[in-house]
Amino acid sequence: MSALLAQLRAACGDSHVLTHDTPGADLSAWEQDWRKRSRGRALAVVRPGSTAEVAAVVKACAAHGTSIVPQGGNTGLVVGSVPDDSGTQVVLSLTRMNAVRALDKDNLTLTVEAGCVLQHLQDVAEQAGFLFPLSLAAEGSCTIGGNLGTNAGGTQVLRYGNARDLCLGLEVVTAQGEVWHGLTGLRKDNTGYDLRHLMIGSEGTLGIITAATLKLYPLPAATLTAWAAVPSMEAAVQLLGMAHHTLGPGLTGFEVMGQFALSLVDKHYPQLRVPLFKDQPWCVLLENSDCESEAHARQQFEALLETAMAAGCVTDAVVAENIAQARGLWHIRESIPLAQAEEGLNIKHDISIPVSRIPAFVAETDALLEREIPGVRLVDFGHLGDGNLHYNVQAPAGADGKAFLRDWEDQVNTLVFDQVARFEGSISAEHGVGELKAHKLPSYKDPTALAMMRALKQALDPQNILNPRKVLA
Ligand SMILES: Cc1cc2nc3c(=O)[nH]c(=O)nc-3n(C[C@H](O)[C@H](O)[C@H](O)COP(=O)(O)OP(=O)(O)OC[C@H]3O[C@@H](n4cnc5c(N)ncnc54)[C@H](O)[C@@H]3O)c2cc1C
Repeated sequence: MSALLAQLRAACGDSHVLTHDTPGADLSAWEQDWRKRSRGRALAVVRPGSTAEVAAVVKACAAHGTSIVPQGGNTGLVVGSVPDDSGTQVVLSLTRMNAVRALDKDNLTLTVEAGCVLQHLQDVAEQAGFLFPLSLAAEGSCTIGGNLGTNAGGTQVLRYGNARDLCLGLEVVTAQGEVWHGLTGLRKDNTGYDLRHLMIGSEGTLGIITAATLKLYPLPAATLTAWAAVPSMEAAVQLLGMAHHTLGPGLTGFEVMGQFALSLVDKHYPQLRVPLFKDQPWCVLLENSDCESEAHARQQFEALLETAMAAGCVTDAVVAENIAQARGLWHIRESIPLAQAEEGLNIKHDISIPVSRIPAFVAETDALLEREIPGVRLVDFGHLGDGNLHYNVQAPAGADGKAFLRDWEDQVNTLVFDQVARFEGSISAEHGVGELKAHKLPSYKDPTALAMMRALKQALDPQNILNPRKVLA
């Protein structure tokens, strides 16, 4: 291994190759996943500063048969970005590759390196008068390489699509250490297989993304946020239909939050002042982005909420008066995962179901879980506009979280995933498969699709050095 380490140091410079023998080095930030579900041990953490250095690192690792775990901000939620505990894998961190390479205002594109932090890209776009719409609670630390690696979703998918839909071109280092120069800004290119779509969402198992050309949009003239209490999940779905109809493409966010999820925010962060959650089982957060004016957006929102109240699918609502209030409402939504973590360990699911079937899915699955685990607490929230629920299962009040996970995680996952399959949904809507769900995939993925995935992996990475055992166990 010392020969490999010497080659890595020659490629990237001594200070950018860390091992457990490096004086004063603490590798835990790269070895521990965000949810603290897994702590691996790396042979080395390598931090190349250019595409050529990434290629040299991959070539050296391939020559030694050493596997590589690509890593961005390490905020992934499915144990995809950390090494196993063998002490033989190289973590390839892209965070030093954080340059904005080009802004093409007429083509509405931004070309950036993989290690750029998402929030920085949003700011760069805004300063140039544009919107880069990918938005998620981890945006202060996740990177665009990781967003594309996981095909991240977030809160604006309803209008702008997920990371895949926001990317026009890629630069990728292959498992052989070759560079694919695919940074086109083209919206049309039918010259054969679309390799970009193969790489996006492959979670570092098919290639290493080093740069991307991203789509920009005009900044809206006004963005308004409303919070509504709704009497049932059926009513929430009905409201979504009305919002599509009234707001058209202005509808840029539609989040649902269960009463128990909001009660956790209220309990752990009382200063956030959660509105309207005490009397109804669900609340909804809506966002209207208008290209005309704030007055127009407000008028549309008021018309929508009046109609919805008359139809009985909203019982009470508030429209944020200013940006600070709107941010406050979004902050409540984004605090649910943190409040849930404060409450204790829980079993997380990131599932998608056709929107029309979500009410039946929730009613049936809640009942099945309550029958199996008396007192179980369900932390339901998510991107209802995309049919994506974070359907999380928390131990009964007072129970030990660790023991709950040990005794119930597998059974609960099977119960929920079987229900997802029955309702023709997906066991991973936006977080990916990683290591956490790789063993479940064969039970829920179409066998022909799985065989094609294995064939692609074999063709592109025959040595199986790129993120082995992630996605495909
Ligand atoms: C608080 C919080 C909220 C979140 N909210 C959402 C949400 O709303 N929607 C959503 O979709 N996700 C969400 N996530 C999870 C989400 O997947 C990540 O935050 C983000 O997309 C991952 O980016 P990262 O740079 O941290 O990638 P990492 O965690 O470092 O890596 C994620 C995966 O991508 C691979 N990868 C990383 N960089 C590259 C690269 N350059 N080339 C190839 N593969 C690469 C890794 O090997 C790994 O498999 C959330 C996470 C947190 C902590």
